[in-house]
Amino acid sequence: MTTLSELHVDVDARVLAIREDRPDWPCGKGCDSCCRRLAEEPRLTLGEWDLLRAGLAALPPERLSEISRNMAALAGQRIRPVVCPLLDLASGSCPVYAQRPVACRTYGFYVQRDLGLYCHDIETRVAEGSLADVVWGNHDAVDHRLAGLGEIRALTEWFENWESGKSLASAYDLPIAAKSGS
Ligand code: SF4
Ligand code: SF4
Repeated sequence: MTTLSELHVDVDARVLAIREDRPDWPCGKGCDSCCRRLAEEPRLTLGEWDLLRAGLAALPPERLSEISRNMAALAGQRIRPVVCPLLDLASGSCPVYAQRPVACRTYGFYVQRDLGLYCHDIETRVAEGSLADVVWGNHDAVDHRLAGLGEIRALTEWFENWESGKSLASAYDLPIAAKSGS
């Protein structure tokens, strides 16, 4: 069975191979258009959520509160596309880049059943034929491996359950803390 880290290693290798041949590849720091225009709310496997949660837990409280508000707004939003609730809108950066989901790692470099998983900029270059020699990653194979990483839920659902778990834990902690302080 594939582990999440093995999957990351394989995706990183494919991304690196594409980048090495193309130093001018558009994906990179400073480009956040795909994070601002997600076709749907991200869905993650349990394995991906466990990793992401560790990244979220390390964020400053004020940043986490902002993310929490974004999550609540997204949960009730019907309009598409959506902005990723994790994106730092001011800097255009991902606050959990090292722990980001697999889809964020493959986007721009993978295709699925002849459908390119990339933005309009790359699509234009594909249509012009300038990327004809690129060996794209196969996202169907990635999906197959992701299927072994636990149940899949919407990002807002994972987050909401995590937050409820935290408030439950602190509610149970309260009497213990009060007791130890007396
Ligand atoms: S897929 Fe497109 S929008 Fe996303 S990082 Fe790459 S070039 Fe930028
Ligand atoms: S998790 Fe990070 S990389 Fe992925 S869409 Fe959100 S902000 Fe972008």
